[in-house]
Amino acid sequence: MVRLITLFCLAALSPLVAADARCDAPALDPPVADYKAKVTALHEQLGIPEDYSERTGLSLQPTNERLVVAGVDRRMGVFLMSAEAAKAWLEMQAAARVEGVELFPVSTYRGVFEQAEIVRQRLNDNQTIEEVLKTSAAPGYSEHHTGDAIDLATPNGPGLTQEFATTEAYAWLTANAGDYCFTLSYPEDNDHGLAFEPWHWRFERSM
Ligand SMILES: [Zn+2]
Repeated sequence: MVRLITLFCLAALSPLVAADARCDAPALDPPVADYKAKVTALHEQLGIPEDYSERTGLSLQPTNERLVVAGVDRRMGVFLMSAEAAKAWLEMQAAARVEGVELFPVSTYRGVFEQAEIVRQRLNDNQTIEEVLKTSAAPGYSEHHTGDAIDLATPNGPGLTQEFATTEAYAWLTANAGDYCFTLSYPEDNDHGLAFEPWHWRFERSM
């Protein structure tokens, strides 16, 4: 009975959320000078070209230190996001579930040093920096620093691969994520020269 009531409430709530999706959450504070210096030093250490930003059209992403729990996984731990993105994500997850589509987070917030570690590990695995930067943003340029980005998967799905684009979950997101202010950051043939990432969605704020 409780479950039925919950479902009824969520179903009743969904159209309201959709109609009210103005995506007017306040913009994050822009990066400060200290942060820029930290990113520049990391790029030098990792051999990231100085013209990375111009070449990719990606901009420096502010890090967000005001984070809330947006999910918990027994194996993967706690998922942190900005308060606004977490709220929108949980509403979106509930709305999808009501329609029979299960979504779960694989990655949310990660800081600059964690991003640098990902790049470093790939370099240690004998990949060139050019190869690495095709599928990983340089530290400082990952949308995951903001707490507004989320990598999504679906049970028994293909994980974070381009095959995710063939799932019912992806079709649902394509049709509905905009109602919760989430957009696909890296579509096919994007201008940044980054690989298609059907799993990576970002919470949109007011400009
Ligand atoms: Zn991502």
